[in-house]
Amino acid sequence: MPYSVPDLSYSFDALEPHIDAKTMEIHHDKHHGAYVDKLNAALEGTQWMDQPIEEVLANLDAIPDDKRAAVRNNGGGHANHTLFWEIMGPGGGGDPSGELSSAIDDTFGGLDELKQQISDAGVNRFGSGWSWLVWDGSALSVMSLPNQDSPLSEGRTPILGVDVWEHAYYLTYQNRRPDYLAAWWNVVNWSAVGEKLDATRAG
Ligand code: MN
Repeated sequence: MPYSVPDLSYSFDALEPHIDAKTMEIHHDKHHGAYVDKLNAALEGTQWMDQPIEEVLANLDAIPDDKRAAVRNNGGGHANHTLFWEIMGPGGGGDPSGELSSAIDDTFGGLDELKQQISDAGVNRFGSGWSWLVWDGSALSVMSLPNQDSPLSEGRTPILGVDVWEHAYYLTYQNRRPDYLAAWWNVVNWSAVGEKLDATRAG
């Protein structure tokens, strides 16, 4: 079955004033839509089409040479944005709780240090990419990857990710990526992030 863009569980304007409605609409419908269209075109007629995108990205070496770059870019784009929509929401921000809170404290000494590392990784990402909080099987860590590369292709499970492509923030923030990253914490749905950690630890 072809891949598809998941519906948002909130409206395009639900993340205002931190992320404007027009950015959300273009980002979700046009950018994510284009990744999905190109992913489907690349994998049409292969057995990979029936695999969860996480499996595909964890096995990029097994993708035929002539399709690998398209799958890396567009499959990554699909998985990354799917997570992005899930870990944001109206009424976001605040503090994580439960196991996630404990894991953040154990690794970073507190939420402020995690935020600093995520923001620094995003600000310092030259060009386009993402800043990630990942689980490596035993611990949390922060990493930045270029373009639409997925942590899954490096054996890590993304728990939280922030898109630092200009298309994610340009209408409101123009060149001010640090301001976007600072405001972005106000839309993070920490319970959704916690569910991702719980799922991979249980997995
Ligand atoms: Mn994006």
